[in-house]
Formats: sequence, structure tokens, C-alpha cells
Amino acid sequence: MPHMSADQFRALGARMLETITGYWEGLDAGDGAGGGRLPVMCDKGPGWVLGQLPERAPEEPGGAGEWDAIFADVEKLIVPALTHWQSPNFYSFFPCNGSYPAILGELLSAGLGVNGMLWATSPAATELETRLLDWMAKAMGLSDEFLSTSANGGGCIQATASESTLAALLAARQRARAKGAEEEEGNSPRRATEGHGGRQGWGEEKGRGRGAPEYVVYASTQAHSSVAKAAMIAGIAEGPEDPHIWLVPVDASGAMREDELVRMVREDVTAGRVPLMVCATVGTTGITAIDRVDRIAAALESVPGWRGADGSARGWLHVDAAHAGALWLCEEFAHLRAGLERVDSICFNPHKWMLTTFDCDLFWTRDRRSLVTSMSINPAYLKNEASESGAVFDYRDWHVPLGRRFRALKLWFVLRHYGLEGIRAYLREHVRLAALLERWVAEDGAFELCAARTMNLVVFRPRGKAGEDEAAQDARTKDLMDAVNRGGRLFVSPVVLPREWKGTERDQLAGRLAIRMCVGATLVEERHVHGAWEEIRRVAREVTN
Ligand code: PLP
Repeated sequence: MPHMSADQFRALGARMLETITGYWEGLDAGDGAGGGRLPVMCDKGPGWVLGQLPERAPEEPGGAGEWDAIFADVEKLIVPALTHWQSPNFYSFFPCNGSYPAILGELLSAGLGVNGMLWATSPAATELETRLLDWMAKAMGLSDEFLSTSANGGGCIQATASESTLAALLAARQRARAKGAEEEEGNSPRRATEGHGGRQGWGEEKGRGRGAPEYVVYASTQAHSSVAKAAMIAGIAEGPEDPHIWLVPVDASGAMREDELVRMVREDVTAGRVPLMVCATVGTTGITAIDRVDRIAAALESVPGWRGADGSARGWLHVDAAHAGALWLCEEFAHLRAGLERVDSICFNPHKWMLTTFDCDLFWTRDRRSLVTSMSINPAYLKNEASESGAVFDYRDWHVPLGRRFRALKLWFVLRHYGLEGIRAYLREHVRLAALLERWVAEDGAFELCAARTMNLVVFRPRGKAGEDEAAQDARTKDLMDAVNRGGRLFVSPVVLPREWKGTERDQLAGRLAIRMCVGATLVEERHVHGAWEEIRRVAREVTN
């Protein structure tokens, strides 16, 4: 069977680009309110696509006209069953920014078809990535210890923030084990545990399983579920409710309470458990609350055992800024960077709010030795001179998979096309639009704001009515949200507000349902946000009265 000819690929490639461009243009019909001809949130039920797909793969080649059929099927079966993440009226979750320069990077990456698992398997893939991570670290004001040129730091592209958190946790455990082993060496009575592989906690010897220490991970109640998931994958917790994950209560702003964190860490140290990693979130998923990384770092320093006896780092502080990290580029958001110079690792997703088509998460650590040791195995078939020389990074040791896509290309194209100033202007425009939306909500007596706006997310609900109980008000909020989404002109998502707000100034909102609108789509303009708000008001008049 002959391969597709270069001429055929050229022609079909042009047709595919036309299809993509047409799709993007169709997302914004320009009516100011709802955008494209398709509902933003997919309206197809389960099985709609499955029911139209053959149950077995084709035995025979497609033959003459195959691509007409394929393009027709994309139009008929795929596009209608999409939620249109690139619609200017996508306000749900966090955005998943795409852009034409990034799409070109994806195309080139697929076209070059390299696997950058080792430096030696395509030096350009590794070295471009290394340089881009350094560019971004400098642009964001990260300290020099996170640069690839530092003694023990550096960064790489991970697929997602979830994978960064897992990588951070594995590195943290590596370091804790090494410290435990070191301390045992210098403490002969504890050698009694050698039969368990020499691993144990930092306090009393209260092992778990076959003598492994009981590690504990901490994050706020508002942290993303990927923190618990990482702990489960790493075998530290058996499930999301496992006590080896502490969910630290938040304050009225939704930020982690440092006093509660310290209390929990102290309790664990006293009980002989090992506080392994604290994950602070800059820009929580629910309400974009900001954990005070500087205060968290300082508070942890006060806990005996957080540092080794020799003062060296032991517990690991990771920062998950999956969405908000993009704002580190903007000087007016310098407060979001406070304390980053004191953490062990950091991640943020250019694929959320920095125009770099999914997937692209940037991850930096100041302790690459612990990271690399945690995931490095050297089978004979991967050995090569460059790796042995120690002069290169082999990024396969920085994450779970061996193989690596050439993701740096799309980020490189984005940075070169927009420049940092272009990206800053883009972010600032979204923040401006979110502030406008916030004002419209505040001025409308039928609605109330439910959380302080820290960046481009506005959280609100219909105002309660006299005599209405909490459940009825939540039901009205949900009805409104569902009706808005069903209407197809925009897509918003729900949040359950922090339960710890009970008894605080936010008591009325504790554990209650609200609507979140994140203004961050690549194509969004003021006319869209205005139209979306008018649509919400219109639907609210119909549905919730
Ligand atoms: N962390 C935060 C704060 C998030 O909001 C999200 C997703 O929205 C994630 C992590 C997970 O992101 P990813 O899909 O890159 O794993």
C-alpha cells in the first residue's frame, strides 16, 4: 500500500488549514452575544457519536474520494459533538487557550516527528525547551536558582499541571528518603530500622506498610483535585479522603490558613509522620484565591523538622499556579509572586491563559537532582555519550513518560509572534473585561457577587428572595446556570463556595452554589462579555422569577 504522496499531502494540508480557519471564524458570528452557529456547550447526549461510528476499523484502504468522506465526517460527526473551548463565549472552568501561532507549532512538531526523550535523540528539542524555560523564568522574575544555568535548578515542559504536581511529589519523596537515610547514618540507635530499607520518619519511628515512613501531603480545601490524585498515584494516600492528605481550611479570601497548616504539620511531626509536601495554590480553581506563599514558607520554617538538623531543605513546598501563573509576567501582579523565591517547585500552564494550544505546562524546580533521581533508570539501550558526560539534560528523567513531544515549538512561536508585551496586553485586556463584568453584576440588584475578584474570574449568583431558604436559592442558581448553558450562546460553570466561611463575614455564602465566569478565551472582546451578561440577565428574568 503506497503512502500518501507529498503532493496529496500538500493539497490536503491546505484544505485542513482551511477547515481549521473556517472553524475558528465560525466560532464568532459577530452578533455580539452568542457567537457561532453551534452551541458553546455541547448539546449532544451520551452515545450520539458512538452510534454513528462503525463498530470495527475499516479493512480496506479508503480509496478514491476517501478524504471527501473524512472531511464530511469531521463536519457531521465531530464538530457538532464538541464543546467549543475556543469560542469567545467560553467562560467555563479555566480557558484552554489556542492561537494560530501555537497551532503552527503543533503542526511543525507533528511534521518533524521527533521524540525528544534524550538530549541525544534530538538536541534541538531539549535545548530549545531549556532556553524557553529560562526565558520565562526571567520574564516572570523567578529567582536565579530556577534557571538551567544554576547549580541545581531548571525547568521543563510537562503536559499538565497534574503531572507537575506528581513530579514535585516524587522529587519531594526522593529528598525525604535521602535525608532520612543520611540522618540514620549519623544516628546509630535508629539503625534498628535498616531491615526496612533504612527508611523512616523524622520523629518517632511509626512506620507504615513495610516500615516506610508515613508521608503526609498538605493543600488547602480549595486546591485542585490533582494534588490528592498525585498522592494517590504515588501510593501516599489510598483515596481522596485518606488522612495522609490534609486539606487545610481557608480564610474569608479563600486562601490557605497558615496557622492551621502549621498546627497540622506540627501534629504530624509529633506523631512521627513525615510532612512531605505542601502545595500552595496561586489562583484556586473555584474562585482564583491566592495562597500567601511567602507567609506559608515563613510559617513552615517555624516547624521543627520542616528543615533538616543541618538547616538544609527537607519538606517540599510546591506552587500550583496552573491558571494564574501567566500574570507573573505583569508587574502590577507582582504580589502573586511573593515568596516564590522560597519554594522548591513551581508550575503554570501556558495552555490555560497564555495562547499556547493544549498541552503545555511549565515546571521549574530548584532541586533538579532530587527530581531526576526520583525518575531516572538507565537501561543499556538508552546509554549514550552525551548523557554519560553529564553535560546535557535528558528530560525523560523529569517526568513519567519516556517519550516526549516537541512542545517547545508552539511556545516558541507564541513568544516570538506576540512578544512578552503582546502577551501582557492580552492578559490585561481580560482582566479589564472581568472588572467590567464585575461592575455590571454589582450594579444589578438581581445579582450578588460571591467572591473577591483577584484577576479574570467573576463569581456571582442571583440574589436571594425574602423567605427563600438556602436550598431554594441554590436551586435557582443552578436553574439559571443550566438554562444559560442550554441556551448555547455562552458556557459558564458552577462553584461550591468554601464551607469554612461558616461563622465568618461570609457566613451567608458558606458551602453555597455560585456561577463562575472566567474571561480568558483567546477571541473574547468586550462585545462578547457584554452580550453574555445581557443573555444571563434575560434568562434570569425568564427562569428564576
Ligand atoms: N491546578 C489548578 C489550580 C487548576 O485549576 C487545574 C485545572 O483547572 C489544574 C491544576 C489541573 O490542570 P491540568 O489539566 O493541567 O492538569
